[in-house]
Amino acid sequence: MAKVYDMVIIGGGPGGYTAALYAARAGLRVVVLEKLSAGGQMALTHQIDNYPGFVEGIDGFTLAENMQQQAERFGAETELAEVLSLDLQADPKMIETSEGIFYGKTVVYAAGAGPRELGLPKEQELTGRGVNYCAACDGMFYRGKTVVVVGGGNSAAADALLLSRIAKKVILVHRRDTLRATKVYHKSLTEAENVEFRWNSAVAELRYGEKLNAVVLQDLQTGEKSVVECDGLFVSIGRKPATELVRDQLALDQSGYVIADESTRTSIPGVFAVGDVRTKVLRQILTAAADGAMAVHYAEEYLSEKG
Ligand SMILES: Cc1cc2nc3c(=O)[nH]c(=O)nc-3n(C[C@H](O)[C@H](O)[C@H](O)COP(=O)(O)OP(=O)(O)OC[C@H]3O[C@@H](n4cnc5c(N)ncnc54)[C@H](O)[C@@H]3O)c2cc1C
Repeated sequence: MAKVYDMVIIGGGPGGYTAALYAARAGLRVVVLEKLSAGGQMALTHQIDNYPGFVEGIDGFTLAENMQQQAERFGAETELAEVLSLDLQADPKMIETSEGIFYGKTVVYAAGAGPRELGLPKEQELTGRGVNYCAACDGMFYRGKTVVVVGGGNSAAADALLLSRIAKKVILVHRRDTLRATKVYHKSLTEAENVEFRWNSAVAELRYGEKLNAVVLQDLQTGEKSVVECDGLFVSIGRKPATELVRDQLALDQSGYVIADESTRTSIPGVFAVGDVRTKVLRQILTAAADGAMAVHYAEEYLSEKG
């Protein structure tokens, strides 16, 4: 007979494990279902300098392990299992995984979101070795170097601007002949002396030795290709929320994020969306962790009202 948990958490990133910590400390029977290993996107980051409390920063893998162990110290359980399907309307809610079925009186959906990739050969292997998806996180490693930024929206423009203050040279590559980003970025970027624009262009190929050392750009109008030597590539073409599992059950916005405000409550009572998976402005470890705490607050309220 499968156990019924007070809370089943899907995803063991910072959002999921903070929810687990708060739930366990509140005396709830809680399990985290994680398909890979603790930490989520955070565990991919070798140096985290903007999570408070670590004077010298901390590597993401260690922070992930710490978060898991801290939650488990208070009785949270972890199951390495991939969630395959969900019935969020059922009572209790039913979660089918690669390791069997779990039931939860409440569900915290913390499956995260990943950066949208270019889809080029070797892109994944070069991630962290020249290929990056977060300028705020990894820009500091390119002080005095040459970087290419791909994208034309607000996040690409913000990344290019941030990198222009760190790197020697920033080459902004965009498929169109003007940025989609709001006007405020245009002026700052065109005034920055070390920013070069490559309009109507796309990255066609990555060149590398041990690390990325160049990209091949293709002019989308003429088809002409050119090699651009660089130390880093920042891909800023949007994000991809992990919401396929809940697409038919929870209300999502146009970009596929679960619609939930700071309370983390979703369109189904007793189901909470935490971290990068929900609609929000700033997707970071700190904000994911904050969501985890909020979810438990409202889950306790839901459980006590339900009786
Ligand atoms: C390269 C990189 C560097 C970054 N650097 C920083 C930084 O320096 N500072 C900062 O604040 N933020 C940084 N971020 C952003 C930060 O990592 C995220 O905002 C944060 O991890 C979001 O946490 P989360 O708990 O919402 O989701 P995630 O960290 O994405 O975790 C989600 C977890 O859910 C699991 N999961 C998904 N689907 C299933 C399923 N079906 N079954 C079971 N498990 C599932 C995943 O395996 C994953 O472990 C960085 C992101 C990246 C990609």
